[in-house]
Amino acid sequence: MEASSNTAAAELNIQNKSTRILVGGSPSYRCDYCGQVINEQIRFSGVTIRDPNGEITEHFFCEEKCMTSQYPDI
Ligand SMILES: [Zn+2]
Repeated sequence: MEASSNTAAAELNIQNKSTRILVGGSPSYRCDYCGQVINEQIRFSGVTIRDPNGEITEHFFCEEKCMTSQYPDI
């Protein structure tokens, strides 16, 4: 793994990460990294991030590998 020159990512403040499973009736998500649809009953990773403006956003990844590819410092 080489260091990324993406300075925007370095400013992100990771608040929380967790493993989640969608249950029936939930909207489906797409993996933030590879774009794969995350369907019900599939375990996925969610990350809560606060950006430099103080805004909270949530990002979802179909697997841990996608999460660490997007956020190597997580
Ligand atoms: Zn993915």
